[in-house]
Amino acid sequence: MYRTHNNGALRLQNKGETVTLSGWVQKTRNKGFMVWVDLRDRYGITQLIFDEERSSKEAMAMASELGREFVIQVTGTVIERESKNPNMATGDIEILVAELTVLNSSLTPPFTIEDDTDGGEDLRMKYRYLDIRRKPVRQNLIFRHKVAMAVRNYLSEKSFVEIETPYLIKSTPEGARDFVVPSRMNEGQFYALPQSPQTFKQLLMVGGMDKYFQIVKCFRDEDLRADRQPEFTQIDCEMAFVTQEDILNTFEGLTKHLLKEINGVEVNDFPRMTYDDAMKRYGNDKPDIRFGMEFGELNEATQHREFNVFNQAELVVGIAVPGGNQMTRKEIDQLIDWVKRPQIGAMGMVYCRYNEDGTFKSSVDKFYTEEDMAEWAKITGAKAGDLICILSGATHKVRAQLSALRMELASRLGLRKSNEFAPLWVVDFPLLEWDEDTERFHAMHHPFTSPKPGQMELLKTNPADVKANAYDLVLNGNEIGGGSIRIHDKEIQSKMFDYLGFTPEEAKAQFGFLMDAFQYGAPPHGGIAFGLDRLVAILGGQETIRDFIAFPKNNSGRDVMIDAPAPIDQDQLNELHLKVIYN
Ligand code: ASP
Repeated sequence: MYRTHNNGALRLQNKGETVTLSGWVQKTRNKGFMVWVDLRDRYGITQLIFDEERSSKEAMAMASELGREFVIQVTGTVIERESKNPNMATGDIEILVAELTVLNSSLTPPFTIEDDTDGGEDLRMKYRYLDIRRKPVRQNLIFRHKVAMAVRNYLSEKSFVEIETPYLIKSTPEGARDFVVPSRMNEGQFYALPQSPQTFKQLLMVGGMDKYFQIVKCFRDEDLRADRQPEFTQIDCEMAFVTQEDILNTFEGLTKHLLKEINGVEVNDFPRMTYDDAMKRYGNDKPDIRFGMEFGELNEATQHREFNVFNQAELVVGIAVPGGNQMTRKEIDQLIDWVKRPQIGAMGMVYCRYNEDGTFKSSVDKFYTEEDMAEWAKITGAKAGDLICILSGATHKVRAQLSALRMELASRLGLRKSNEFAPLWVVDFPLLEWDEDTERFHAMHHPFTSPKPGQMELLKTNPADVKANAYDLVLNGNEIGGGSIRIHDKEIQSKMFDYLGFTPEEAKAQFGFLMDAFQYGAPPHGGIAFGLDRLVAILGGQETIRDFIAFPKNNSGRDVMIDAPAPIDQDQLNELHLKVIYN
């Protein structure tokens, strides 16, 4: 037997017991006549003591030779520590070792296996198995497991069935590029890895499975933005015989359950906001509603004077920064530089101080009166002591810019607290989205999303106004889930493909199987998918999803540990009927 207990288990009650422990050497302290070893495993650390008088000579000699990360097994007696360590669960005891076996030696690790390691990100990724020995990484993986279990239990309890769908499939349209896999047995043909199990889960509904879920890997070959992974995990769900309302209620339930179960937080408020409203009030379709700073539209209150920058703008919009009047001129100038950075792209920023004595002072004093500025304060909800920040320009750009500023200021002001949770539904998304590159409309969600009842007609006349039965679940300014009610009628689905620019042949080639299935009694259905990686990170109060993935890829999509992607040899290429041409 390798161990009778783990390294987090023993307490004073075990005093006098003979135990066997195994684990890794965290550190040793050698005083010649006595050697202490911290023995670590997944569960904790237990202190071992080797003593000239009470341990065997052999054990004593071996103990002095132990290096960091050696794997050892010891048998000894639990004794009470003279100097106890209240910061350690096992801090009251130590093991007086009688026998020591070295199970494996170890090279000196390239970074310290401590909570605060000296290893940089790259090094830790290359030796991820060592990184996983560190408590923060280990705890994150265990945390992820807990979230996944809570999801499984909850959904299973509600009669959802977890069903696996294939990974080697044909393209699924979630708007990204596919990863493809050449087929050896079918020359010149390729599988695609699923961007999501979308069509399969819809076919499961046709198959009568009613309530499906799956915790599943998805693959999207996108240009990687910070904190995106080419493979990621979704909690993918679909239900039949449901309206949007049923879906929102079900997954509101799941979200509340997770917040309660995992974070001990009871959420009562679960607001719903239309997409249009979210854009107007927060400039963003995933607003963080934990703090105010709502947008105030100032066109009417600014476009009656001689200030041309505002007069020419499609939208003039401001936010009130609580306590912002404390900022020095220099700090405000830095803020202006911040919005002018290319990543944000504002032309400039007008500010207005709302002084504690009730007077105003703005960067456009020349043009506006005190009454004008009092009106701005009213519209943006500013109070004495606040700073009003105003941007202007084309509506969609200016909203995005002010939204970025709002989030930045909220972070600086400490308003984005990781232990506070404010979920909401954003509903009534537009069905279509204009794509500048191809100069045509694309499905904003995916082509299976159904328009709101009665809006199919609008497609011809005002496509941009058509709203969909599509919704996103937003938590603390992050989209954690999104879904829709689907089209379940073959005719409407064909019309939609047609509208989105698929020829009937293309639609048949890509989605013929789905259209065929729709001829055999497809029930009304809809669903949602959550991004598990992000959800776990947010519940864990952290920002980076990579910290919650056992073996993540870096920002260039590489696995630096196994060194993938990598070339394959000529035989393999031949077998796959592939020829690599390098440009
Ligand atoms: N397949 C969608 C996605 O991956 C989710 C859904 O519509 O259920 O975003």
